[in-house]
Amino acid sequence: MRKAKRKLQIIAGQCIVCGLCEGECPFDAIHMEGDVAVIDYELCTGCGKCIKVCPTDCLYFEGEEEAEEAAEPEVAEEVAPELEAGLAEYQGVWIYIEQSGGQVHPVSWELLGKGRELADALGCELAAMVLGEDVDDVAVATGYYGADKAYVIDDPLLAHYRTHPFAEGCLKLVREYRPEIVLIGATTLGRDLAGAIATDLHTGLTADCTGLVIDEQARLLRQTRPAFGGNIMATILCKEHRPQMSTVRPRVMEALAPDETRQVAIVRETLEVSEEDIGVAVEEFRPDADLDKPNLQYAEIICAGGRGLGSPRGFELMKELADALGGVMGASRATVDAGWISHDYQVGQTGLTVRPRLYIAAGISGAIQHRVGMQTADTIVAINSDPEANIFQIADFGIVGDLYEVVPELIKQAKAGNLKEKLLGDGGT
Ligand SMILES: Cc1cc2nc3c(=O)[nH]c(=O)nc-3n(C[C@H](O)[C@H](O)[C@H](O)COP(=O)(O)OP(=O)(O)OC[C@H]3O[C@@H](n4cnc5c(N)ncnc54)[C@H](O)[C@@H]3O)c2cc1C
Repeated sequence: MRKAKRKLQIIAGQCIVCGLCEGECPFDAIHMEGDVAVIDYELCTGCGKCIKVCPTDCLYFEGEEEAEEAAEPEVAEEVAPELEAGLAEYQGVWIYIEQSGGQVHPVSWELLGKGRELADALGCELAAMVLGEDVDDVAVATGYYGADKAYVIDDPLLAHYRTHPFAEGCLKLVREYRPEIVLIGATTLGRDLAGAIATDLHTGLTADCTGLVIDEQARLLRQTRPAFGGNIMATILCKEHRPQMSTVRPRVMEALAPDETRQVAIVRETLEVSEEDIGVAVEEFRPDADLDKPNLQYAEIICAGGRGLGSPRGFELMKELADALGGVMGASRATVDAGWISHDYQVGQTGLTVRPRLYIAAGISGAIQHRVGMQTADTIVAINSDPEANIFQIADFGIVGDLYEVVPELIKQAKAGNLKEKLLGDGGT
């Protein structure tokens, strides 16, 4: 007997136009139109395949909303009992300290700040993993930023980063001391290392986390990151494997103020790798600074331009404003995609995460993918001709108007020397 056809419905406001339902439908009955999926009832057979793949639960059958809800399994966050005993052997929060020639990447201090919070919530130790050559000073400094202990491997083979010896060193430490959480900066180096370690340990790795909290009851790390093009935030749990591993981009977390009276216990280990085991040799090391890239991530003031600039020449205006304020330029992806400016300036989900004291956004609509990269700025000034632009939702100061009238006025005030104080001081309108 043929089953009666069920009528598919959609909650339009919840649809993120990801296209998964369209791809899954065997009858070609769903298409993406503008900002919503549209159902062709002539073709839809009510098979329900689309409902299963929808990441936002915006599809349902008429009359079955409550049944669907009732049937939805509860999210179990407890650790599988048979694994509990084994998992409990893993204790402590570890941070990988990225350094080059003794210079620590600030993301490591930021992660120690977050790690301190996680370790306190778990009631365990916060440790730093320090690998390199002549890294004693680095190890001592990890204490200033919150670490209780530093596991150190100091070896000439670790003078410059190469995946194999660094991964082997980390694996040795993790296998021996069994931390329950390992955090690594989502830098070029960190992304390479984290993937190599997680693969060898057969554990999960959540990249580019924007939120990390402890579920104290389950003793699990709740790892939150943007998913589906940044339209939803996914919280990921690693229930059955240890350590729980995450990478976090620079400027997402905040470092503790260094306390030079804080002492760290140092544990030394050796590297069991020889030069012959390593397939890569470093011929020359040229630091990134030589390339004269803008240092957006650690800039205090960023003047960013979007598609509203209308043409690449608009960035000349933004540069003038940035220079007058002693800041640097930033950009939205729309302008980078249009070829108006290099990707080095892009702020957002597929660009850089920044945390300046002042962020001026001119002609930027405030799409979620842009906002995730700049919303933690201390003060946000938005200039947009559309009073409904999303950027105004997160702006401390909003100026509705044509940026070609507003920005020259700001430049004038910045050159007169009173704009920064107005925007960053107590008052200022
Ligand atoms: C997977 C994925 C990743 C992405 N990653 C990023 C990312 O890292 N960074 C990012 O920025 N975007 C990213 N995007 C793109 C993002 O969704 C937006 O498309 C983009 O941010 C829009 O850039 P915009 O605000 O410059 O342009 P628009 O959205 O076109 O906005 C232009 C704004 O300028 C205003 N305007 C026009 N003329 C003037 C004027 N004369 N004066 C004042 N205002 C004016 C308009 O009112 C409008 O609000 C990503 C998208 C996806 C799907």
